[in-house]
Parts: sequence; structure tokens; C-alpha cells
Amino acid sequence: MKSDIKSLTLDQIEKTFRVWGQPAYRAAQLVGWLYRQLACDWGLMTNLPRALRDRLANEYTLNCLELVTLKEAADGTRKFLWRLHDGNMIESVLIPANPALYGGGSDRTTLCVSTQVGCAYRCAFCASGLRGWKRDLATEEIVEQVLAVERWYRATCKTPASAGPVSRIAGDETGDPEAGLAGDALSAPTFQQGTRLVDNIVVMGMGEPLANYENLLKALHILNAPWATGIGARRITISTAGLAPQIRRLADEKFQVRLAISLHAATDEVRSKLMPVNRKYPLRDLMSACKYYVDRKGKMITFEYLLIEGVNDGPDQVKPLAMFARRLGAKINLIPYNPVEGLQWRRPSATAQRAFHRALKSLGVTATLRQEKGSDIDAACGQLRLRTEAQQGSPLTD
Ligand code: SAH
Repeated sequence: MKSDIKSLTLDQIEKTFRVWGQPAYRAAQLVGWLYRQLACDWGLMTNLPRALRDRLANEYTLNCLELVTLKEAADGTRKFLWRLHDGNMIESVLIPANPALYGGGSDRTTLCVSTQVGCAYRCAFCASGLRGWKRDLATEEIVEQVLAVERWYRATCKTPASAGPVSRIAGDETGDPEAGLAGDALSAPTFQQGTRLVDNIVVMGMGEPLANYENLLKALHILNAPWATGIGARRITISTAGLAPQIRRLADEKFQVRLAISLHAATDEVRSKLMPVNRKYPLRDLMSACKYYVDRKGKMITFEYLLIEGVNDGPDQVKPLAMFARRLGAKINLIPYNPVEGLQWRRPSATAQRAFHRALKSLGVTATLRQEKGSDIDAACGQLRLRTEAQQGSPLTD
């Protein structure tokens, strides 16, 4: 089977080109086409000799994601449903401005990327695992999520001819006062201007990132590389359901990405009910892997804690959660649950959310209560794919 050209690093391309007897600058030209021009067609690469293009086309694929559906929330969050070359579907979510949730600065344009088709971990509250795991994403399919969004941005938002809310961006950029009136004020995105849209990545889409470790790490190295998209490692956050051995492995990498743990409960009893992975790696193991990570990296980690009514929002969870976070010097993001069709879980009232937040803070923990985004477009993990597949009647699991 052919490998995809976007699964290779510049070093690997250079090496291949040396073997092929190509001058070194050809590799730089090629990555320019892939990551700056965002080309999806070998034929476009007109400054490469025909014979080289033919050889590349013979030996590598150049797969690009196909946009199936794009949904836009009132707050500007956009959810992309992509079709992969084999017909499977995945999602990415574009969040216009992200307050400093994971330790980075604010006002970044964040893309939430998927790492697997489906998910094997079957967290009780999550849409992604509802129809099982199908396969890991290849390196290039993770990289492509960023490129495809940039491609969409160039094609849609940067063309003055585009209509609807997105033309506001074009108007903002060109200073055309009329274009600013085109869209619904509510859906006005607050994207940063510049040649690239995405400058922050959260690996929190469909799938368990650390269960697809090699492909993910290679994809993040490419996205981080100056010859590709140059997204700073500190602007990349990996979120895991808590695979303790892989957390240790990540701690031993030189790569300085941020780490977030989906904790969601601070006692084994409650956590095992919500997250079956807790039976394999109970809180003790998770804690010790996190400790190892923090010690090795000297970096703060973040705990994500979904607030689910009557399940993990009671006073009994506050103290163990605070102790857990304090021992690691970790920060907690409280996220009100986003209801999923077909699941019985509900989000607590705003009063209950605030009470939990206050109780945590009173124990000396840094915690934020997140304003979750995009709930009107099913922007939580796996929800859009689930709905689209249900409509199309295509089963996920073979
Ligand atoms: N498997 C990884 C990454 C994907 S889930 C992980 O578990 O971290 C990304 C985050 O979205 C997790 O914290 C997950 O618990 C949360 N999530 C899943 N379903 C949700 C829902 N319905 N509402 C709000 N957050 C949800």
C-alpha cells in the first residue's frame, strides 16, 4: 500500500529525493505546495519537473479531506464533518477565541482534532464511543484536519464574494464597511487575521489520542514544524481519558505539548461507572503517572471535569478532587455536560454548577467553570458524526 506524502517529515522527503537524484531544494518546493499552498493535486505543482510529479504520484497518495457538513453555532464555533478517503467520517471543531483554558494565552483560534474513527473507551456520557471503535487515523489524516480548515478558510472567508456571516471576516480584513453588515451579528466570528487561521490545537475530538500514540506524535511534530504549519508545541494540548503507561511515555518525550486529563470523578467508585478505563488504570495509577509527568516536565497539567447532574456534582466529590489537584499542582476545568441524544445524563443547574465551583475554590484549587461552546451544533465529541450517520443509516461498526 502507498503511504501518503503528508505522513512524511521534511527530512524523510529530502532523503527520498537524494536517492532519486533530485536537488535538495525540490523537497522545500514540495512542502511549500503541501503546507503553504495547501495543494491537493500533483498537477498544480508546476515548478516541479513533470517526471518528478509523475514519480511522486506513482509512489505516494495525496489524500485530502472532503467536507461533508459544516455547522455554525451562534457563538461562532464551527463544526466540520469530513469524509476520509475510505468513506469513514470524522469531525473537527473550530473555536474562534479560546480563553486561556490550558495555560496558553487567550484570543487564539483553536482547532479541536480527532485521532480515531469512533472510540474504544466507551465513556458512559460520550457520543464518540456509542458505535464503537473503527480504526486509528493515519498521521496525514490528523495533519489534514488543520490543512483542510485552512483551505476552507482561504476559499470561503477570504473571498469577498462569499455570502453570509463568513463575509464579515472578509469585510473586516479589507476594511469594507458594507461586508460587515452581511452576516448575523450573533454569528460573527472573532478569528485572528493573518495568513493562517489555526494557531492552537486541542486533541480532544473523537477518539483516544494516546491509543494512537505514534501517528499522533508524528502528526503533531509535522504541525509543529516551521516548514509545515509551525504551530507552537505550547499551543498544542493532548487530552486523554487516562492511559497511565502512555502518559509516562509522553513525559519522556522531548516534545513540550500540554496535557489535559479527563478526570470527571475523583473516587474510583464514581469514575469506574463513568469511564471503564478506570478499571484498568484506577486513580492511584493515574495519579502516579501524572506525578511522573509533572516531575519530568516541570509543567502544569489540567484536569477536565464534566459536571453531570446527580452523578459527580455532589459535595462528596469536592474534597477528593481538590486533594487530587493540589497534590499535582493541577488546574481544573469544570465543563457543564452537553446532553447527547439517546443518553440519560443531564447538566446540573447553573446554581449547582456555581456551588461546585465555589466549593472547589474554597479548598485552594485553581478551577474555572467553562462556558461550553457550540452546544447548539452538537459540538461535543462525536455528536455530529453520530447524527449524520444515523440520518444516512450507515453503520459505524462492521
Ligand atoms: N479521549 C480523550 C479525548 C476526547 S474527549 C479524552 O477522554 O480526553 C474530549 C473531552 O470531551 C473529554 O474531556 C470528554 O470527556 C469530553 N466530552 C465527551 N462528551 C461530552 C459531552 N457530551 N459534553 C461535554 N463534554 C464531553
